[in-house]
Amino acid sequence: MKAIIYSKALYSTWIYYAPDRILFDCGEGVSSCLENRVFAIKHVFLSHGHADHISGLMGLINIRNNAMGDHEKELRIHYPAGSHFVSELIHYFARTNRNLEYDLEWIPLQVGDQVTLLAGRMPRYIEAFGTIHARGEPSLGYNVCEVRRRLRAEFRDLPQEEIVALVREGKRDEISEEYTQRLFSYGGDSVPLSPAAVRGTEVLCHEATFLAEEDRKEYKHATIWEALDVARKAGVTKELIVFHLSSRYRGELSEVAREIEKMDLPFQVRLVSPGELVEIE
Ligand SMILES: [Zn+2]
Ligand SMILES: [Zn+2]
Repeated sequence: MKAIIYSKALYSTWIYYAPDRILFDCGEGVSSCLENRVFAIKHVFLSHGHADHISGLMGLINIRNNAMGDHEKELRIHYPAGSHFVSELIHYFARTNRNLEYDLEWIPLQVGDQVTLLAGRMPRYIEAFGTIHARGEPSLGYNVCEVRRRLRAEFRDLPQEEIVALVREGKRDEISEEYTQRLFSYGGDSVPLSPAAVRGTEVLCHEATFLAEEDRKEYKHATIWEALDVARKAGVTKELIVFHLSSRYRGELSEVAREIEKMDLPFQVRLVSPGELVEIE
């Protein structure tokens, strides 16, 4: 997995997920950080219409038209259906960018919608799930899913030669089953996510704006301890990435990281320090 993340609560949040060329959210500064890599982006998935998640769209849309790169590559921007702020932006771009050289498509999504990323033997798609954030502003989270095949439970203990023989007899479909693996989950801004929505994911990006419950004035965001709890309940297998931290906590994060280490969790935890560009190999 390779991703680049920038996130500072109130200011800007974006994550470039390289394997599927997806930009999750589009806060300010994304184009000046990614430079010519903006041409690699195929899809943008917006979690909601707050400024810190969409303020980089003007730069991204224009730079794809003007910088050195392939000006004909289309760009698809997905957003929660009914988002007032995104709808206003779409009107703005329609009036001010009549001469775009590439196809720019705006695609409204609802909870449960799927978007194909890759066809073929192991198809991949995005599934949109519901999140709870701000009243009047619809918000979505997204899972990157891959359809795989595995042996059915009753065949898993058979010796390898017997399995090979069954496959030679043309019984591949009888002895195996399809399943869906969630590879990467992005929750956007939200109170604690429903563990069921991201169950079994390999990597979960969960927001945590606050370290302490008493700092939270309105119930719109999660705390770091809630994010850990969601990851544990969801059975995250590889890594929890905590983003959207408030810059007021910058000095306390190494202490928090030590505390988390002592919890001996079955997955890695990465805290995205506010204002730092984080590259994940
Ligand atoms: Zn927000
Ligand atoms: Zn935000």
